[in-house]
Amino acid sequence: MRRTLILAALIVCVLTITWGQSPYFQLHDLVVEERITDRRFKHALIEDLIHALPTDRFAVDSLGSSIEGKTIYQIKVGHGPIKVLLWSQMHGNEPTATMALFDIFNYLKDSSLWLPQDQDLLSQLSLYFIPMLNPDGADRFERRNALPIDLNRDALRLQNPESRILKEANDRISPRWGFNLHDQNRYTSAGKTKNTASMSFLAPAADEEQTWGSRRQAAMQLIVAINDTLQYYLPDQIGRYSAEFEPRAFGDNIQKWGTGTILIETGGLRDDPEKQKLRTYNFIALMTAFRNMHTASYSNNILEEYEAIPLNSRRLHELIVRNATFSMGGDNFVIDLGFRNSEIELADTFYTHGTISDIGDLHNYFGYHELDAIGLTLSFGGIDTTLVTQSSQLASIDAKTFIARGHTYLRLDHEPTREDRMQTTLHLLGPRQKPPNYLDLGDSPALLLYSHDAIVGAILNGKYLML
Ligand SMILES: [Zn+2]
Repeated sequence: MRRTLILAALIVCVLTITWGQSPYFQLHDLVVEERITDRRFKHALIEDLIHALPTDRFAVDSLGSSIEGKTIYQIKVGHGPIKVLLWSQMHGNEPTATMALFDIFNYLKDSSLWLPQDQDLLSQLSLYFIPMLNPDGADRFERRNALPIDLNRDALRLQNPESRILKEANDRISPRWGFNLHDQNRYTSAGKTKNTASMSFLAPAADEEQTWGSRRQAAMQLIVAINDTLQYYLPDQIGRYSAEFEPRAFGDNIQKWGTGTILIETGGLRDDPEKQKLRTYNFIALMTAFRNMHTASYSNNILEEYEAIPLNSRRLHELIVRNATFSMGGDNFVIDLGFRNSEIELADTFYTHGTISDIGDLHNYFGYHELDAIGLTLSFGGIDTTLVTQSSQLASIDAKTFIARGHTYLRLDHEPTREDRMQTTLHLLGPRQKPPNYLDLGDSPALLLYSHDAIVGAILNGKYLML
């Protein structure tokens, strides 16, 4: 059965190459690490997966521990002359590439799956992986480490064990290529367009003048090869990260220390909240890079193609409500209202908190969700006077019934907790809190939408709800 599946996959691979697809797309289904299913996997899980790797192919070493004592591992596979160092999740809440690394391990583990083009991969390349460089941040799903500092600003001072581990690995291995694997803000666009920058790339500058050294140019050529492959899946959704030199960052310094470095930033993609499609595209990107390295085919790519990748911009909001009428001081104004979300952690889950990100003419900005409110009036919702005393009551509340009465706020007899807020889409107030009656950036007012005198919907926590 398995053999038939593999054979079928290989045939599909061969057939699809001609259509611009990558053979790694079909292959990914067969190698996806099924124990990782969403973004909030923990260090304990990857430790389990690492310990299960077959030792005849993978050399696993401990490189030391994080501040809170979690082991940071190096996994080496291959014995070729071209050395590649890849590190992921230096920022704890940027896990997409880590998922793809475990899929790559599954592929490299099983030689019966290897594509013809990869038969000599491990004799040409030596791959050194450091997955989840910041396990303390990853376990909290936070950017920073336990101190908490941003490890990507510690490349010179090297005050943290995680930073020293990366610096020492780069010094010891002296790799030809380095991959700095991150996630970027989901509101990043590819150029000043409506397109998400679902993945962005950069060959970091090694100095303030952004000199084009030969290794940096080769990194640009390799990015062109990856971009060519990914455009099929993410048309016009690939961006180029700002090349401004950051003297404290690892990517910039590792480039300066002589490793041809590529930054990969995974952004947002519609209908992929847990980034499982983006995980596949990370797998394709890295496998494409490996293949190009050992055939050196990237060296034919022209640098103008790198420069033609649109620069990252910030044209996106989570929600844009367009053309709503808003009254103030007896005058009416037509406004667009943008909201962006942040994620609030809660045990092993999270909820999103939407706040106003812009107000005014947003015709050249774009939302993952948009509502045309032309002819509708926006106003502040009222408060229901029934005191809710128990958190357990919140889940059974029918928000639409409250909204139809003009109420978007509930008052609790205690300060609302994160658990309370997860229970309902209505906004919660503590015993003495007043509902806001003004619009301001960074705030999260609960608003009603009227058509003439009838309530037709509400905007709650950056989402719209139509009655
Ligand atoms: Zn990052």
